[in-house]
Amino acid sequence: MNQQEILNSFKDSNALLNGHFKLTSGKHSDIYYEKFMILKQPRLCEKVCVEMARQFEDQNVELVVGPTTGGIIIAYEVAKYFDVDSIYAEAGDGGSRIFKRGFFIEPGTRVLIVDDVLTTGRSIFEVIDLVNSYKANIVGIGEFLDRSGGKVKFDYPFKALATVEANAWEPNDCPLCQKDIPITQRGSRKF
Ligand SMILES: [Zn+2]
Repeated sequence: MNQQEILNSFKDSNALLNGHFKLTSGKHSDIYYEKFMILKQPRLCEKVCVEMARQFEDQNVELVVGPTTGGIIIAYEVAKYFDVDSIYAEAGDGGSRIFKRGFFIEPGTRVLIVDDVLTTGRSIFEVIDLVNSYKANIVGIGEFLDRSGGKVKFDYPFKALATVEANAWEPNDCPLCQKDIPITQRGSRKF
């Protein structure tokens, strides 16, 4: 699947929507990504995860780590491709991430971090801090979709299967509000 095929599958699945949306941050945006429209489809999700895994084929990945919630499924599928373990990072106190359930990382382990959509990168930066606290070796970061338009930068090899630039505005500055375009509920308009 090339970038256009990935984007088409996201649009066809109503995962990638165009309209006028209120984000959890309170900002308004013209693009909305509903990750579970992909993650709920096991065959499609597996296909997309295989594409992601292939981007890191030469990295000798030994462990795949994702943040809750979507990252659990993605890490699992990508780890299956590499025939390695997958674990996931849960929310800790004060914007940190922690491993529960007996998860840990041996020092030096070659870790691939995965998630579905990159917006500000906050959850990925939290996972990076957590993985580094185990003195592991981060060999890459993979995302389905970079909706920052390439603005978020990491100190590790980063690959997104597709990139879009989503606008986000404070409600008072939102041009869609100024045009009296009603805030649409997700799923109501196709990209
Ligand atoms: Zn608006």
